[in-house]
Amino acid sequence: MPRQKNTVCPICFEGRLLRRSKRISDTYKGNVITYLQPGDWCDHCEEGVLSGEDAQATEKRLVEWRAKVDRREAQELARIRKRLRMTQAEAARIAGGGKNAFSRYEKGHARPVMAVSVLFKLLDRHPELVREVKEFAAV
Ligand SMILES: [Zn+2]
Repeated sequence: MPRQKNTVCPICFEGRLLRRSKRISDTYKGNVITYLQPGDWCDHCEEGVLSGEDAQATEKRLVEWRAKVDRREAQELARIRKRLRMTQAEAARIAGGGKNAFSRYEKGHARPVMAVSVLFKLLDRHPELVREVKEFAAV
């Protein structure tokens, strides 16, 4: 579809939309990805208008990147649990979500809520707190 030249920006009404690829940084679970997003970008407010085609050009890569972050998080959770010498059943009792929850998290079949990720990262830094956490969770 041909695009009009010098289209007024529909967001700020001051700039002009120019066809180009803009460098975008996206954050997911503390990870940052930078990619070039094609679109019609305003030379004034820097906002952009993306067609379905523009969004599709980068969507696959972003979905794969988020999946990779999730896989890495699952591996990290398994590493921490093993380091703490906890069984998956014990970790599941602490995390909640049923007795197979941790197994599902480590296989990447389910994602833990943020509080579980944070707790295990905290325990990784402060393994001396495991005893108290187990006590609170009656593990
Ligand atoms: Zn604008």
